[in-house]
Formats: sequence, C-alpha cells, structure tokens
Amino acid sequence: MSTEPDLVLPACDFVIFGGTGDLARRKLLPGLYQREREGQLPATTRIIGASRQGLDDADYRAIVAEAVEQHVAADDLDPAVVRRLLDRVHHLTLDADRPEDWHTLHALLKDRSDPEHAIRVYYLAVAPQLFDPICTRLDELGVVTPTCRLVMEKPLGHDLESSRRINDAVGRVFEEQQIYRIDHYLGKESVQNLLVTRFANTFLEPLWNSRWVDHVQITVSETLGVADRAGYYDRSGALRDMVQNHLLQLLCLVAMEPPTYVGPDTVRDEKLKVLQALKPMQREDVDRDTVRGRYGRGHVEGEAVTSYADDLGRDSTTETFVAVRAEVQNWRWAGVPFYLRTGKRLGRRHSTIEVVFKEPPHAMFPGSQGTTVPNRLTICLQPDEGMQLHLTAKVPGPGGIRLRPVSLDLSYATTFRERCPEPYERLLMDVIRGNPTLFMRRDEVEAAWQWVEPILRRWSDRDEVPTTYAAGSTGPVEAAILLARDGRAWQESVA
Ligand code: NAP
Repeated sequence: MSTEPDLVLPACDFVIFGGTGDLARRKLLPGLYQREREGQLPATTRIIGASRQGLDDADYRAIVAEAVEQHVAADDLDPAVVRRLLDRVHHLTLDADRPEDWHTLHALLKDRSDPEHAIRVYYLAVAPQLFDPICTRLDELGVVTPTCRLVMEKPLGHDLESSRRINDAVGRVFEEQQIYRIDHYLGKESVQNLLVTRFANTFLEPLWNSRWVDHVQITVSETLGVADRAGYYDRSGALRDMVQNHLLQLLCLVAMEPPTYVGPDTVRDEKLKVLQALKPMQREDVDRDTVRGRYGRGHVEGEAVTSYADDLGRDSTTETFVAVRAEVQNWRWAGVPFYLRTGKRLGRRHSTIEVVFKEPPHAMFPGSQGTTVPNRLTICLQPDEGMQLHLTAKVPGPGGIRLRPVSLDLSYATTFRERCPEPYERLLMDVIRGNPTLFMRRDEVEAAWQWVEPILRRWSDRDEVPTTYAAGSTGPVEAAILLARDGRAWQESVA
C-alpha cells in the first residue's frame, strides 16, 4: 500500500496499448482525468494511446473526451481539466504483430530531453496473446530502460502452465520489480483500510486467530450476467475469473501475518505464505468442499432476465457461481474455515468480508430476553465501502435485561469528507510512483494457480453440468448446505 501523501507525480510517458478499448475508456482514461483534476500530472506528462485504427491525435482526443464525459460523474467534470488532459494525449497506430509499424513509438519516446531516464509506463490493455509480441517489439526498439514499468491485466493465464508462459514472456524483457500485475480489488479503499484497521490499531490483532474467530466469509455477488463477454467468460468461469485472483487476494489480506513494515516485498511475502498454507484440495475435498452453479432465467431487481445458456447462445458446463470451503493450515488459523463464494446474476450486488467471532464462552445473563448474535466484523467493498462491527447491546429500560444486536457503523461516504477514489486511480498512481505493494508478484499468481488447479482438474474429470440457480437468488442451494453442514449460514442480510 502506498503510504506516501498524494503529491505531484514524476513526469512520465503513459503508453496504453489498447488505448481505444473498453478498459481504457471505462477505467484508465477516467482515472487519469481524476488525477489531472487533482493537479497531480506535471506539464510534461504524456498519455499515448495505441491501437490499429489509423487515428490521428485529434480523432483520439475526441474518443478520450467522450470516454471521460461518459465515465466520470457529472459533478466532477470540468471542461478546463478535460482540455488540459486532452493536450497531453497522442495516438499511435500500430499493430502488435507488424514490427514495421513501431518506428513512430520509438520516435515519440525518444523525443524527450533525457529519454534514457524518463519514466515510461507500458499498459497492456490488450488480449494476453499480445503481451509477448508487444514486449518483444519494445525490446527490439530499445525503449525498455530500468525506469520503465509494465502493467498487466487479468487473465494471467487459464492455468499454471499458461500463466508461467505469460510471466516468462514478459520476464524476458522486464525485471520482476518493473512488472505490475493489477488486481483492482487491492486498489479499493476498504481493502487498504483492512490492513490499517488490523495493523495500526491494537484491539483486533489479539482476537484475529483461531481462538476467537469462528470462521470467515468472503462474498463477491454480482447482479449482472455475462452480457457481451459470454465468449470470453465461457472459456474462463467463476473460479478462474474471480476466485484465483480477487477472492484469494482478499483471503490473503485477512489471513496474513503482520509484516515488519508495509512495503512491497514485506506485504507480498506475507501474502505468499498464506497461499502456500492453503490446504491442498484432494479429489474428495473438491467433491465435498466446492459448489458450482450457473444461472437460469429469473428476475433481478424486478426485471426478467435470461439464463446463461440464453446469453451464450448454447449450452455449456462453465460455472457462473462458485462456493469453496478453504482452510489456512498454520498456527494462527488452524481449524478456521474460510468460505469463499462469487456468482453472477444474483439478487444483490455486494462484496463483503465477514469475520465471524466465536460465541462468548459463558452465558452471563440468565433470564434475559431478546436475541444475541456472535460478534462480527463486516468489511464492505461494494457498493458502499465501509465497515461494521456487530455487537450485542442492552435495550434501554428498567426491569430485566433485554438484549439486541446493534452495529457500530463506519461508512466511508459519511465519515470522510474526501472523495473515495476509484481503485484504478490509486493503482495508476502507484505504477507511476514505482510502488508495487498493491500488485501481485509472480510467485503469488503462481501459488494461487497451484491451489486452484486441482479443483479445475477434478471438475473437468467429473464433466458435470453445474447446478442451475434462479437468476436473482443467492445461488444454488448446495452453497447453503456447504455451510449448514458445519452448523453455519451465509450472512445474507444487508450489512
Ligand atoms: P477491448 O475492448 O477488446 O480492446 C482491445 C484493445 O486492443 C483495442 O484498443 C484494440 O484496438 C487493441 N488491439 C487489438 N488487437 C491489437 C493488435 N494486434 N495490435 C495493437 N492493438 C490491438 O478489450 P478490453 O475490454 O479493453 O480488455 C483489454 C484487456 O484487459 C483484456 O486482456 C481483458 O481481459 C483485460 N481486462 C479488461 C477489463 C475491462 O473492464 N474491460 C477488466 C479486467 C481485465 P484496435 O482493435 O482498434 O486495434
């Protein structure tokens, strides 16, 4: 996590391969706009979009202006800031597969007073099969210097071997410390605040272990279906698309030991240890501890929606929902289940981490009325970032004791006057500053694949159609049974 204040950034050339694509338009360019608005981009910073489209700078500036207008909140739009941003925008037409196109990039990048020491960010907002050719071209052009950074997006492979191939290809040109593998969940304020809450305070850490924690739930629940990504999604599925990266990263932040200080390798070393401590999944574990589902037709937020097969245009065995019971086999967490679940077309859009504490060892209020709940810390990642601590309190009044669950509520929107930045804003700034703490290291990505692979293998051997769940529900009933078997239940209430 960046612990530096938000000062003006060093000047850089920010090159977006795939500058006309969805990711660039929805996330990267609006993120850079917000930093422009904060006055963080120095005058000589340039934003260079690359695609095959034969656009000149003026054409591309029109695309950037439209992207900013569409994807930045109206209250944040300032025509003067848009103009300042557009002044630094250029477009280059190049095809990753045609070396003869690339001299224009070389000429532009060398057009600096000190090109060898200039900071350059190469953002690969393109399909992963282009990572290798783009890195090869950059190497051939001689535009990779020690001050360059390379940014990659998921999917980083579809299994361990393909992930290694990608990492080998980019690793031939860039040193590991120059490579930034984005997991945008790690850019969320509430995720960073989880580390601060745990390690900048004393009250939680003594309780943060198997003695006091009963179990942990991590849920990423989406209301959207696969829409126009059906083709890509069907080759991936929920386990590869969400669990291998986002959910395991969240698990790592919950379970990791305190690092000696918050720095790039100290944090990532601790996360790696958690991944290495995950109990390996044998065939029988996969059968018992994982659930796969795919959405059928139903109603989401009052609207009739189609099934996965309708969206894909054919039948398929790919899962759009997964629930897994994981265990971290170390001193701190022995015997504490970590339940992970994620799915599309569910009834409610929310991402939460629930740390559920054990019941008090002794009932102290004989004859009391009302209900008690186990203490629970809820970390809300979306839609409203914040945190709640659920307690049991006495209802005011004379006579006997009546108990009722209450919560201490920290909502970011109401507690802080500061605007809550989008994850990409924070992460793009960290790339420019050269701070990789919130990015995944190669060994983490590969350790995550190592844990996930036996699940994929077993599912593939079984070759079963996932259970259908109604769109708008909480997922397949088997996911509820997974916890009921342990005498527990998913936290479904609006936190
Ligand atoms: P997209 O909308 O299809 O855009 C792809 C971009 O790549 C376009 O700008 C395209 O430009 C360019 N491109 C394609 N072939 C090229 C070639 N041979 N040489 C140079 N440029 C080429 O894809 P996207 O949704 O932005 O996703 C980009 C990457 O980010 C993918 O790996 C995706 O999985 C990942 N990702 C995306 C999101 C998201 O929210 N969209 C989220 C997470 C990860 P031209 O066709 O004009 O050349």
